[in-house]
Amino acid sequence: MVQPREKKIIWTVWILLLSLGLWFSHNMYPPQISGNEWEILSFLLFMTVVASMPMIINGIPVFFLQWATLSVFLIFGLFIEIILVQIALLAVLYQAKLDKKTLFRLPMNSTMFFLVSFLSGIIYYSLGGKHGYDLAFDLKSFILISLYLVSYLLLNTLGIYLIDRFIYKRKQRFITKDLVWEIFTTIITYPVGIALYIMYQYVGLAALILIGVPFITLSLILKLYHSSQTANDYLRKTAEIGHQLSQNLYVNETVDFFIGKLYELFKVDFIFIHQVISNNQLEMISRVEQQEKLPVFSDRMQENEGISGKVLASKKISVFHSAQDWQKVNKGYMPEGIQSVLCMPLIKNNKVIGVLLLGSKQKKAFANIKLMVLDLLCTQFAIALENAKYFEQTKEHSERCALTKLYNYRYFEKILSDRFIELNEKKLDNLALIMLDIDHFKSVNDQYGHQAGNEILKAFATRIQNLIGDHGVVARYGGEEFVILLTNIAKTEAFDLAEFIRKMIASRSFDIQQNIDDRQKIKNVNITASLGIAYAPEDADESLALIRHADRALYVGAKRAGRNRVGSYVK
Ligand code: GH3
Ligand code: MG
Ligand code: MG
Repeated sequence: MVQPREKKIIWTVWILLLSLGLWFSHNMYPPQISGNEWEILSFLLFMTVVASMPMIINGIPVFFLQWATLSVFLIFGLFIEIILVQIALLAVLYQAKLDKKTLFRLPMNSTMFFLVSFLSGIIYYSLGGKHGYDLAFDLKSFILISLYLVSYLLLNTLGIYLIDRFIYKRKQRFITKDLVWEIFTTIITYPVGIALYIMYQYVGLAALILIGVPFITLSLILKLYHSSQTANDYLRKTAEIGHQLSQNLYVNETVDFFIGKLYELFKVDFIFIHQVISNNQLEMISRVEQQEKLPVFSDRMQENEGISGKVLASKKISVFHSAQDWQKVNKGYMPEGIQSVLCMPLIKNNKVIGVLLLGSKQKKAFANIKLMVLDLLCTQFAIALENAKYFEQTKEHSERCALTKLYNYRYFEKILSDRFIELNEKKLDNLALIMLDIDHFKSVNDQYGHQAGNEILKAFATRIQNLIGDHGVVARYGGEEFVILLTNIAKTEAFDLAEFIRKMIASRSFDIQQNIDDRQKIKNVNITASLGIAYAPEDADESLALIRHADRALYVGAKRAGRNRVGSYVK
């Protein structure tokens, strides 16, 4: 962040330097203005047109103007060169769409370009260089002009480096890809600038067209080449991200990874992700503002409702450049101060499976966004997300019982044997296994029907699961049999807990709706359960033995003793 104090300094330095510098160069090296007004104006026009098609690299405009500025300098002198470059720069900065916060870039870039013009000009003049219509093109002129260009290039690079270092506080090497690029453009520009100067002597303004037009065309091609190189870089990065995306197994992992990459690639202030659920509704699955994960909103969005709903319906990306643009469309929450919004459908197999919403506090933040890159990323994300969901579902199916949503018997046995390994490795002190069996459940089924029996099993499972929470593992062991595994718990504590569970079942009835006699009425059914407990390592040294002993405690200690009670294993 550039501090307000620094911005003030930049503005002050700009006003002082520019006015002093202009005054100095006007008096020291008087320009030839009178009689040349139309010529100067035409150069200005030409330069402004060229300058309005710049590449912005790290916030600094790069444009192919040296060919024109060189001849302007040679024909009209330093003062006019400074003025024309400054006006052309305004055209560049207008393209960069500065706002209140970034307005300081105007004096900053202006000062830099001024210093580059001014210092290289001074060097040129002080070595004996001249401007005007009738320069002799001898060896001395060539050397001087070359020196002028070299200092122009070096000062320009130094300026960019210093701005990066001290204003943006970015550590960069002096010799970057951009410098190589600049050297390259200077080398092609040099002869063009000279040619323009010479031709100007013979044909006047027509030289601008004869040299300028092909050169502008060439620079456009170069610009395309440069941007295709950048696009290549982006594509390579995207492919890599796609590969990494597919390696995440879980939905949360996949979403977090995707969001992290979006922050790396694009300047955004918030990222929301919605998934499409039944009835074509949208449900928020992720909300990140200023890189911070926040709780999602539970309200659903209908198709065609709000920005995301419209994108869901149209399957097409929407981009808004300012708050005024989206305010009419938006419904519901939008973070403070957001200007630009981009909304992209997440499409898999021609079906929208979700919607991505990006926002920025800057206006027109997504005007030049690499849409193709974002589109590719979103496609890969949609696939990865669906795969992760499928994986989680399959996992869930293989681990849990469909009716009660508790772990199933198979998964429970795996957990139990894992715990035994930990016990043997002394990572755990002890285990307690409680086995529950509902009393006379057959008669509940007989009396109210199998459906009602299922309802009770479901409610029964929920009641136990809520009670145990994270303190242990609850599983459905068989029909109306359940198990609870507790770790690092004292024997008496485990027994008390079992007693508590027994009372909690017996003391509160279960509501059933699917009553076979009368479907309208809700019926309360009282049930009881019998429980058996066994401990490890005291009672058993392996998982199957522990289960067997808990089962035995249940039948001998509880069922045979009259049901609705807790039995402990005795050897
Ligand atoms: P007790 O355990 O007290 O000896 O008597 P019980 O009637 O519970 O014993 P038993 O083990 O003979 O019967 C269990 C009954 O549980 C048999 C079956 O009808 C019922 N049951 C098992 N699984 C389910 C299920 O998924 N849904 C329903 N509704 N009933 C089930
Ligand atoms: Mg049973
Ligand atoms: Mg039973």
